[in-house]
Amino acid sequence: MSEKKEKIVAIKGMNDILPADAPLWELFENTAESVLKSYGYQKIVTPIVEETGLFARAIGAVTDIVEKEMYSFTDSMNGDQLTLRPEGTAGVVRAVIEHNLAYDGPKRLWYKGPMFRHERPQRGRYRQFFQFGAEAIGFSGPDIDAELIMLCRRLWDDLGLDNIRLELNSIGNAEERQRHRADLIAYFEANIDVLDAEAKRRLHANPLRILDTKNPAMQDLVNAAPKLLDYLGGESLAHFEGLKQILDANNVQYTVNPRLVRGLDYYNRTVFEWVTDLLGAQGTVCAGGRYDPLIETFGGKPTPGIGFAMGIERLIELMKAQGEPAEPAQCDVYLVHQGEDAQMKAFILGERLRDAGLDAVLHCATPAGAGSFKSQMKKADGSGAAFAVIIGADEVAGGVVAVKSLREAEGQQQTSVPFDEAVDFIVDQIVGGHDHDHDHEHVHYHP
Ligand code: ATP
Ligand code: MG
Repeated sequence: MSEKKEKIVAIKGMNDILPADAPLWELFENTAESVLKSYGYQKIVTPIVEETGLFARAIGAVTDIVEKEMYSFTDSMNGDQLTLRPEGTAGVVRAVIEHNLAYDGPKRLWYKGPMFRHERPQRGRYRQFFQFGAEAIGFSGPDIDAELIMLCRRLWDDLGLDNIRLELNSIGNAEERQRHRADLIAYFEANIDVLDAEAKRRLHANPLRILDTKNPAMQDLVNAAPKLLDYLGGESLAHFEGLKQILDANNVQYTVNPRLVRGLDYYNRTVFEWVTDLLGAQGTVCAGGRYDPLIETFGGKPTPGIGFAMGIERLIELMKAQGEPAEPAQCDVYLVHQGEDAQMKAFILGERLRDAGLDAVLHCATPAGAGSFKSQMKKADGSGAAFAVIIGADEVAGGVVAVKSLREAEGQQQTSVPFDEAVDFIVDQIVGGHDHDHDHEHVHYHP
């Protein structure tokens, strides 16, 4: 009667994060959140869908993202033009203006979540990917630029990641870029034969982006192009020098990369990238920059801003490449039971163990049935639990449970304990250090 159904699979370039990888993601997110908190940054959550116009205006029309990467659609209910957010800054800045968040002074903010870009999927480049980002709104000096960079360094340290280096540049202000742009266009026009089709198309719309090209045939040309750094005025130079001074004083290593211009239009002055050689072509794990003109562009009061975004998938890859062990999920107690009365007791004991701050997994039935004691004990062993609690008809009759250590090397001991004393007994075993492998930290037992 039932015909074979075709399997449904995930959208190309959009990944599942499976339980085996979840501990690594948790480790990354917890570490990042505590680093951000240690610098006084507060969490902000904005919607995944925004008006298309928000991104077009913020990111700039002649950019990879707006030209070809956005998931845009018309809301069939009301005709609104909407887009799945390709990055986080536009939404955060919109929220800051909409809720007047910066009225009582500058704000340090962070966010995390999925972003969507219609790219060609490949290693380190996906259509849904996760970013962790920070935005500092209302600060104008190089001090906050240095703080954001040093915050990243602390995160790499806390995660045990070396092999990430810092590239730094200043792209000045609009006027300075305008003067550079005129010379740049003239330079490229004089070398028009070397330009590829994309570069030709960008020549008059956004020539700065040509410097970003990954086309090997154009590398010599862009290397010898007029450098934006040479066009910076006094204020921009002073800002850049100020930043470098703070970084030097704090032993932050960096290289100035005059070709670093960043893909988004809204940046000015400081731009930076954290790059690794361990991930192949997609080696940028974090990118950031100053965007002083952006808030005014959105109709807000002129307010400076700077931020960065990290690609979490790339950082997880890097953690794996550096051999960060993915701790298997473990519990404290696995509850084995046989018979209806025993099952009821196991439910009650499970709740009491969790009340005491322990993690307890209750054996539950599958289509193959509840399973024999033997097969349940196999599950208990496989769960990584420190103890199995065994309840059968004899235990129910005697008002006891059997507690068995699953991690003792010398022959696994089994102890009969009165039902009402079982929680105290297990907590004593764990806190008392009888279970040497156990991570005591997550036991919060309050007698
Ligand atoms: P790229 O030059 O690699 O396309 P980008 O300039 O588009 O990068 P940003 O918009 O600055 O990247 O995003 C910040 C970070 O987010 C990147 O450095 C990267 O780590 C990550 N990232 C960007 N796009 C993707 C993607 N499609 N898949 C996975 N991670 C991404
Ligand atoms: Mg890109």
